[in-house]
Amino acid sequence: MGVSLNLKTIERTAYVAEKVVIVGSGPSGWTAAIYAARASLNPLVFEGQNIQEHVDAGRPPFGQLALTTEVENYPGFPFFTMPAFVEYLRGAIDEKMQYLSPVLLDPPKGDEKHAVTGPDLMLLMKQQALNFGTRVVGDDIVDIDVDAKPFKLTAASGEVIEAHAVIIATGASANYLGLESETTYKNRGVSACAVCDGALPRFRNQPLVVVGGGDSAVEEADYLSKFASTVYMIHRRDELRASKIMAKRALDNPKIEVVWSHTVDTVLGDDENGVTGVRLKSTKDESPKELACTGFFLAIGHTPNTDFLKGKLKTNDKGYLTWTVPFRTNTSVDGIFAAGDVSDDHYRQAVTAAGSGCSAALDAERWLTAQGI
Ligand code: NAP
Repeated sequence: MGVSLNLKTIERTAYVAEKVVIVGSGPSGWTAAIYAARASLNPLVFEGQNIQEHVDAGRPPFGQLALTTEVENYPGFPFFTMPAFVEYLRGAIDEKMQYLSPVLLDPPKGDEKHAVTGPDLMLLMKQQALNFGTRVVGDDIVDIDVDAKPFKLTAASGEVIEAHAVIIATGASANYLGLESETTYKNRGVSACAVCDGALPRFRNQPLVVVGGGDSAVEEADYLSKFASTVYMIHRRDELRASKIMAKRALDNPKIEVVWSHTVDTVLGDDENGVTGVRLKSTKDESPKELACTGFFLAIGHTPNTDFLKGKLKTNDKGYLTWTVPFRTNTSVDGIFAAGDVSDDHYRQAVTAAGSGCSAALDAERWLTAQGI
C-alpha cells in the first residue's frame, strides 16, 4: 500500500539484525511504530499485502478499520465539515498515499458534519509513523523462528529478516457467515461492528438484524436498540449462549426481539438502498421467513490472525495471544510482544489497540536496553 517499500529497496545494513520488527498495520501496529521510531529503534513494519484475498478474508492492511466507514469514538476526531478536513488530509498525508483516502477520493457533499473514516484514520497513523522514519514493507510475515536469536522472520516474498525484538499486531478478523449477499452489501448495511457503525443515519429508527446468540450479540443488539426501531436477534438455537445476566438484558429490552432457531439464508438488498431485509430459514422445519431491515450486524465471534505463528506462542483457549506478565505485553517468548486485537478478545476497540501498541513499543524498548542492544 501507499509508500510501502519493496524489501530489496529498504536501507538495511547487510547481516545486521533489525532492532524491532512490527507485524501488522492497524492502530496497534502504527502506534507501536510511532513510539519505536521516536525511541530511535528504526522500526520496520510489515503491513501485509494489499491483495483481494486478504480483503475477502477480513484482514487487509490497516485491519478492521480498513473495512469500516466513519469512526465516531476515536478520541481527537470530533465531527467536521468538508472541505476543511479535505485540506487537512491533503496537507498531512503523503501525495503517494492519497489515493487510499475515501474522503480525498470522494469528499462528501453538502454541509453535514462527518466523523473520520477508518481508512483515513489509519492513513494518518501510518503517516505519523513514516514522519519519524518508520520503514514499511507491503508484505506478510508467514513464519517466525522463535528459537533463533535474533529471531528469523520469513516474508511471503521468501525474504528472511532477523530481528532482536518483534511486536505482533496482526489483529483479529470478524467472522462472517460466508454468504455472497453478505459480501455484496458490506459497508452498505452489513457490518460486524455495531459500536463502529450503529449510529450512522441509515440505521436510525429502522429495524435492524443482529446474528448470534452470545454475549457480543447481546451487547451489539443492546447498543443498536438505542438507535433502531426494533432489533431482531437471529439465533440458530432456542437458547442463548450469552451469560445469564447478558441474556436477561436482551430478553428484558422491549426493542429487542429474539428470532429463535433460525439461520440466515440471504441478505436482501438493492444497489440504491443497500440492505433492505433478510431471508431466514427455520432450523426446526426449514420453513422460510423474511424480515425488513436496513442493517445486518454479525456477532458470531472473531478469529485472531495468528496462523503464521503456527502455535509457537502461548494463546488462551480462544486462540488469542496471552500476555504472560501482568499489565505488560510480553508473550510466552522472551523478546516477542503482542498488541491490539490479536491479544485482546475483550475490548477490541481502535483506541485500546492503539494504547497497547504504545505499551508494546515501550516494553520492547526496555527489553532491548536490558539486553544491551
Ligand atoms: P461466542 O460466545 O462464541 O458466541 C458466538 C455466537 O454466534 C453463538 O451464539 C453461536 O451460536 C453463534 N454463531 C457462531 N457461528 C455461527 C454461524 N456460522 N451461524 C450462526 N450463528 C453462529 O462469541 P462472542 O459473543 O463474540 O463472545 C466471545 C467471548 O467474549 C465470550 O467469552 C464472551 O463471554 C466474551 N464477551 C463478553 C462480553 C461482556 O461480558 N460484556 C461482551 C462480549 C463478549 P451457538 O450458540 O449456537 O454456538
